[in-house]
Amino acid sequence: MQKNVDVLIVGGGPTGMALALELATQGASFRIIDKATERSPYSRALVVQPRTLELFNRHAGSGIEDLVAAGKRAAGATMCVSGKKVVDIDVDSVKIPGTKYPFSMTITQNETEHWLEKALAKHSVQVEMGVEAKDIAQDADGVTVTTSTKDGVEEEIRAKYVVGADGAHSVVRHAAKNLTFDGDAYPQEFICADTFMESKLPGGRAYMCLGNGAFIVLPLKDGRVRLVVSRPNQDTSRAPKLEDFEEFMQEIFPGGGSLHDPTWVTHFRLHHRCVNNFRDGRLFVAGDASNIHSPAGGQSLNSGIQDSINLGWKLAAVLRGEKPDSFLDTYHTERHRIAQFLLNNTDKAFTYVTSTNPIYLFLRNNILPWVLPLVATNKSRLLKQFQFISQLRVRYRHSDIVGTADGFYGPIKGGDRAVDGGLKTPQGEIWMLDLLTPTNHHLMLFSGSGDNYATEADLNGSEALFLNNTKTAAKVHQIFSEGRNAEAEYVDVEGALHKAFGFTDPGYVLIRPDGYIAHIGPLTAIEEATRWL
Ligand SMILES: Cc1cc2nc3c(=O)[nH]c(=O)nc-3n(C[C@H](O)[C@H](O)[C@H](O)COP(=O)(O)OP(=O)(O)OC[C@H]3O[C@@H](n4cnc5c(N)ncnc54)[C@H](O)[C@@H]3O)c2cc1C
Repeated sequence: MQKNVDVLIVGGGPTGMALALELATQGASFRIIDKATERSPYSRALVVQPRTLELFNRHAGSGIEDLVAAGKRAAGATMCVSGKKVVDIDVDSVKIPGTKYPFSMTITQNETEHWLEKALAKHSVQVEMGVEAKDIAQDADGVTVTTSTKDGVEEEIRAKYVVGADGAHSVVRHAAKNLTFDGDAYPQEFICADTFMESKLPGGRAYMCLGNGAFIVLPLKDGRVRLVVSRPNQDTSRAPKLEDFEEFMQEIFPGGGSLHDPTWVTHFRLHHRCVNNFRDGRLFVAGDASNIHSPAGGQSLNSGIQDSINLGWKLAAVLRGEKPDSFLDTYHTERHRIAQFLLNNTDKAFTYVTSTNPIYLFLRNNILPWVLPLVATNKSRLLKQFQFISQLRVRYRHSDIVGTADGFYGPIKGGDRAVDGGLKTPQGEIWMLDLLTPTNHHLMLFSGSGDNYATEADLNGSEALFLNNTKTAAKVHQIFSEGRNAEAEYVDVEGALHKAFGFTDPGYVLIRPDGYIAHIGPLTAIEEATRWL
């Protein structure tokens, strides 16, 4: 194994492996180590969100279809309050527009990790299991990491940068002198079980039952369910038993049935904490090493993966010498705000579900049966919630490295996710997302949908102007409105993309390797785009 690498990734969980996939695709020199000798058979995270699937889709040949096939789409949720069913929420009735993956997926963390391992194997990369980072010291030129195996074999690895994807107790974060991890533990203790449940209730649904505590049922793929329970007066001095769940079920979960053959019964405490900075010199933190919050909404695993995708292309650009080291500061600028936002929102959801304040509980349990049916049948409200949970709304408008051309007032701005839509090609229909790759910027030139549309010659002129003025690798794609160019390689199906971006007149979207918009504007401002690569 190489003793000198550009990047050492400490931690081979979902965050570390997602970063490894980005760096492998970019051809960067790196190693990835994990102190565990084998992967845990138990699954913590259960949900993969649409944005994560979109971002993995950038890796053509990674077998994204296998990941989707391994997951189970959430069919819907039933809400119960004080032992009575209040409302069914039908997930299928609210379609998220503009994405190839309009569904959250239930899939065990082990399966997601297994998929990442297979995707890495295609680049001949393996997580070095059983290798623990013990000591980490950075200096002006690099970082020296002393590692040790279970048998006590030590090694010194020298890296230009070290990324701590090593979970909540991160050694990388501890080694970074300027990082704090502020926050607290929630007072409640949770009990959790993966088990079979015999019940007359429709399967494949999630159930959220509130009362004097909370009882949450999430469907797993093989007929089992995940139970997550906050129960008052639970004896926390001993390990939980299946009977604890069954007892509470009678009280709070109407028609819950009986439980048998658990594969995992555990208890845990949750924390809400975030680092003050995602970077300290040559050390970076990502995923649970940078922020931890309640699993409400199934966000953490997904946001760790987004951390890695944000950092991966930036590290590669700096290592290739295309960008100065200070470019890496934008990793903190962009991801810290997202972490804070998630922390605040999951904290609100958590308090709402698990509060033990008797006055609050009385009000909540009496008001909810009236309010929930109204909220649950309000489709635009539900859509907004789903879009937040799906992480399709993540955006970096506040970042210095994204922009919007002066005078462009379309609904999508620099820093937003590149919305998706169908494209007709001579070979059949694809999604615009399918054109994006993790190694390049992509410039999308749009003909415009109005009378003032651009011809192929106009777009060719803009393409040449752009390519002549840029040294950074970028791919250009021309997208025409229907009926504008019979020879077009890509035609915007029903004008959905033109509409979404606000391109009645011709326009361009410059998309970063991580799928976010570096710059957007009218075609007349195309020269500006080259400055945002
Ligand atoms: C009960 C429960 C339910 C959850 N449900 C969800 C959910 O539904 N959706 C969701 O998105 N998230 C959920 N989460 C959170 C999710 O599991 C984590 O956010 C996710 O695992 C974070 O991934 P990570 O790679 O950042 O860290 P981890 O998965 O913790 O991986 C860190 C890795 O670093 C390794 N490591 C640690 N120290 C060292 C060292 N010194 N040297 C080398 N290696 C080291 C560890 O062995 C580990 O493999 C849940 C968490 C819990 C506890």
